[in-house]
Amino acid sequence: MIPNQNIYLDNAATTPLDPEVLEVMTRSYRTLFGNPSSIHSHGRKAKAALEKARRQVAQIIHASPGEIYFTSGGTEANNTALLGAVRDLDVQNIITTRLEHPSVLNMLNYIQSQYPSVGIHWAETDALGAPSYSHLEDLLHQYGEGKTLVSMMHANNETGTLTDIHRIGELCDSYGALFHCDTVQTMGFYPIDVSKEKIHFSGASAHKFYGPKGIGFLYMSNASIVHPLMYGGGQERGMRSSTENVAGAMALAFALQKMERERERRRAHITALRQHLIRSLRRHLPSCRILHDDTTNCHYKIANIALPPTSKAELAVINLDIAGISVSGGSACSSGVEKVSHVIDILDPEEERKHIRISFSHHNTTDEIDRFIEEISRVL
Ligand code: PLP
Repeated sequence: MIPNQNIYLDNAATTPLDPEVLEVMTRSYRTLFGNPSSIHSHGRKAKAALEKARRQVAQIIHASPGEIYFTSGGTEANNTALLGAVRDLDVQNIITTRLEHPSVLNMLNYIQSQYPSVGIHWAETDALGAPSYSHLEDLLHQYGEGKTLVSMMHANNETGTLTDIHRIGELCDSYGALFHCDTVQTMGFYPIDVSKEKIHFSGASAHKFYGPKGIGFLYMSNASIVHPLMYGGGQERGMRSSTENVAGAMALAFALQKMERERERRRAHITALRQHLIRSLRRHLPSCRILHDDTTNCHYKIANIALPPTSKAELAVINLDIAGISVSGGSACSSGVEKVSHVIDILDPEEERKHIRISFSHHNTTDEIDRFIEEISRVL
């Protein structure tokens, strides 16, 4: 349980910092404060630690260290890949879905405004938000001339719906297209092997896997190098100028290694909690609809629930918050206001129901789920 006894069920938004990760960070801040670009011993030590972190990340996703670029997070990784692919790799067509994260969709809006000749093509999605692989293939066939980029997320952050990235990679490969896969919600939670999957770009944010905010990475295959978004001192082999966040990179690498070590144990615990939630909802609140009954095609940490269409449901997130339970009711907006989710809007435009997203961590307990069920029953 996280401090203050409140119940935190919004782990897809962000996760609490693992105390061991914090220790790695504070040790680094104390002892490795040198600038990695400096040639003296303080700088060299910081540089060595940074490169070790890069190797550790690369090893986990089976990339070469030169293909890992530390960034401020997933948004920067997605933006760098998409803009770079158009600007530097001569991409003429982008195939994606309308359910991507705003860090993809808003970059695509920008690309449309600045590069009007680039075609943006929307692959159809099914009732749960999974892309239609046959429509993707049609689009690849249709726009196979010239360079094409497919951008599809591994797991949707609101519904948890998983895409078959192996299948997409193979399709892209057979049409000579590039594949950008937003892995921000899955990095650490699922094994990702870029030596097997035909992925050219993907990204991660450490705060989604119990690491700190403000650090992430872009995986960019050596075969598809783009130019940077920022220019300056030429750090990160010219890809990302700005003095490196050594403590952040070390913390990210440590957190990712720990995710890998603990993955199966945590996964079993979270999956059991998810099953318990769904069983309890069926028993106590049968009018709730659960988007994914099981985790075959859904990220195990996410459960999206459509509440019964009543005025009380509209205020569910606020009333749960008053009861000390944090869940999400749409996409968080920088102003702190919750917007109606573009994802739910697209999946079911007629839907009158309010959806809430429960997202678990290994810290959650069955008792917490029981308390959530009690409170949501009261609220509704
Ligand atoms: N992509 C997905 C699927 C996400 O869920 C998020 C964050 O919620 C991002 C990208 C952006 O990550 P960050 O806000 O850490 O830059």
